[in-house]
Order: sequence, then structure tokens, then C-alpha cells
Amino acid sequence: MDLEEARDALFAQLTPHSASECIPLTQAHGRITAEVVRAQLPLPPFPASAMDGYALRQQDASNQETFRIVGPGLAGHPFTGSIAAGECVRIFTGAVVPDGADLIVLQEQVAEIVTAENDDKNVRFMPHKTDEDYIRPIGNDVQLGQQMTAPGDRLSPLLLGALAAAGVCEINVYRRPKVGIFSSGDELRDPGTPPEALALGQIYDSNSFTLVSLLRHLPVELITLDRLPDDPDAVEEALAEASRRCDMLITSGGVSVGDADFIGATIARLGQLSFWRLNLKPGKPLAFGKIEDCWIFGLPGNPVSTIVTCLLLVMPSLHVLCGTVPKPLLRISATLASPVSHRPGRAEYQRGIYSQNARLGSGLRVKHTGDQGSNRLSTFAGANCLIEIPKDSGDLDVGADVNILLLSDLLT
Ligand code: AMP
Ligand code: MG
Repeated sequence: MDLEEARDALFAQLTPHSASECIPLTQAHGRITAEVVRAQLPLPPFPASAMDGYALRQQDASNQETFRIVGPGLAGHPFTGSIAAGECVRIFTGAVVPDGADLIVLQEQVAEIVTAENDDKNVRFMPHKTDEDYIRPIGNDVQLGQQMTAPGDRLSPLLLGALAAAGVCEINVYRRPKVGIFSSGDELRDPGTPPEALALGQIYDSNSFTLVSLLRHLPVELITLDRLPDDPDAVEEALAEASRRCDMLITSGGVSVGDADFIGATIARLGQLSFWRLNLKPGKPLAFGKIEDCWIFGLPGNPVSTIVTCLLLVMPSLHVLCGTVPKPLLRISATLASPVSHRPGRAEYQRGIYSQNARLGSGLRVKHTGDQGSNRLSTFAGANCLIEIPKDSGDLDVGADVNILLLSDLLT
């Protein structure tokens, strides 16, 4: 299976969580709405001044220069009278435009303010054209009852602000699926163990840190599970137990075809293996299946493979499980600034650094980060994109057109 086929297969199989819960807006960042939310009031709810200035009648403005100031109108402190001929209200941004007024003359247009003998204040404006009234009519941003969200919308800070402005303070969201994370391999030790305490052949478990960090901002409940040893019975017992309390399991390592690789076979024995092995580099030995009601991804153990498959397959799948519509991969074209060697066969995703071409408007350039070994986490240092090399492509020279996938997009 190619990447796109695998993604389609995943999106077709995964069914979103349907249970929802009502939570305060203050806790809703990143969650997925389960309902249509409508504006509780129009925005603005009253005709509001868009500027600091003077509110008056348009019909007076053309034949009169001097107006009597009958009061102030501030945001939250409206002038409650109405404006008659020759009158104005000193008004500020966000204040209610008083009855009768239909024009704000900007304070920059004031020629002078004169206090009369009876203490009245009069303002005289400079001659000016009025092609804009600087009044925001009721509902000019949002109408009463306007739909603000649809089920499946991710609650971003921007959407949360709009909902708060529209009077919404709690919202129905999908429940967070439980996602269990396993590392596997007898060679792994916890970071924090002193290096001198590592026996020959032992390394730190980095994948569980990477996976937890990659998935932390998704609306899922993450459960870090005990590492799986390279023992088929222990793997079977642990996967069976975890599948009963999680909606999805993600393992890394032990999914290849080595003597100590038991994940694929165990999924097949306990449930169904829907696919195993992809036409993808890095990431070839990925397995996906289901044990009872629990989905399971067996990711390859090489740290770069774990990250790339998590970005391209696991995170989009979790979006579906969480209730959102998966977005297609965003491919952006760029010009190669370093040669790429590639053997035709599998599509490859190399770590790259893209930047704007020196001449503005002439697109993006991209270079890879050096040796692309799938064990080398350092290939991600400085990377801001993945360079996509199509499966049929051979070596590519400087100047070749390629597609890149932005890490900033994949990480969200
Ligand atoms: P495996 O697929 O289990 O053979 O693992 C492939 C390579 O990735 C081996 O070199 C493992 O030591 C390494 N590896 C597997 N899991 C992890 C992990 N959690 N953290 C760091 N390296 C790992
Ligand atoms: Mg292993």
C-alpha cells in the first residue's frame, strides 16, 4: 500500500467517538464540537461607533459646521438621550450610537471647541467629505442565531473567542478517546538512568517521549503503558489487557521481521491485522489492526520512522477518531537546493529545511538535513518540512521541483 491508499483505508475504517460531554468554554481549547452552536445575540448587539469622534445627524453635516455637544457616550456608558438638529455627542469606539445620530465625525476633523457664555460647549469641524459613517450596525459581524460551529469543528483560540463574544459559555464536545502508548524492546531503559548504569547494548527509550509529546495537544486521554519486553506471551498479555481499556493503542518497535518482533503476529492472533507493511520510507513495517473494539498501530521502532509514521498516519487517524474530518496532506512545491539520492520503489520522506527564495515572489527552496538514516534523530534538527520523493523517482538534482509537507502543518 502507498501512503495515500493507507490513509484512505484508515479514514474509511475508523469511526469517530460519538459520546459527548458538556464542558465550560474555558476548558474547551483543542476539543471537538459535537453540536451546532448559534449566536445568542447579534454582534454588535447595538449600533456601535467604530471610531472616537462626534455622533450627529448626517443631514446636518452637509449644511452646518458647528454643533452643540449634548453629552458624552463611552463604551459601557451610553448617552441615552436622542440627537436633535445641530446637536452632537462626544463618542468613543465601542459606544452606543445615540438615537437620531447616523454619522460619526472623526475627532481628527475638529477645528475648535468653544465654550459659550451659558457653558454650552460647541464643536466646529473642518470642511470634509463624509463617504463613511463609522457606524457598525447591529449584527454586522454576526447575526442573531447565526451558526458558529458544526459538529467536528476543532475549538481553536480564534473560534473560542468568537463563541465567547456570541454569549456561549459551555459547549458539547466529543469525549476524548483513550490512547495507550507502548514502547517495546529489551534494550530500552528510562531516560534518567545514568549513562554509566546502561549495560552494553542498552539505549534510552525515546519513542514514548516523542509520541506523548506529538499527541499531547490532541483531544485524547494519553496513557503511558509499561514497556513491552521481547517476549511473545508477555506482549500478548499486555496488548489484550490494554485493548480492553483503550480506544487506540500505539506501539513502537518489534513490528519488523526480526526474531524479536512479535507485534504484528500478536495483533493478528488477538484480533484482525488490517495491513502490515507500507510502500513508504521510512515506515515500511507499519502494522494496523484492531483487537476487540480497540484500534492498534504498530509503528516501526527506529525513531525517525516512528515520528514520520506518527505524523503522516497516526495523527490524522486520531483526528478522525476524535470526530474531525481528516484534512488532505498539504503539498507545497519547492525547488531542491541540495541533490537527493533515491532508489525507485518506495515514496520517501526526507527531513528538509525550506526557506523563501532570495528574490521575493519566486517561491521556496528546500535542502535536506544530511544523512537520512532512520535511526538518526539528529536528521530532525533544524528541519521544518518533509521532502516528498515520489516512489518512481530516481536521484534528483539541484533545481528539481519537489513537494514538501510543512512540519508546522503536520504537527497540528
Ligand atoms: P525494532 O523494530 O524493535 O527492531 O527497533 C528498530 C530500532 O529502533 C532498534 O535499533 C531499536 O533499538 C530502536 N528502538 C526501538 N524502540 C525504541 C525506542 N522506544 N526508543 C529508541 N529507540 C528504539
Ligand atoms: Mg525491538
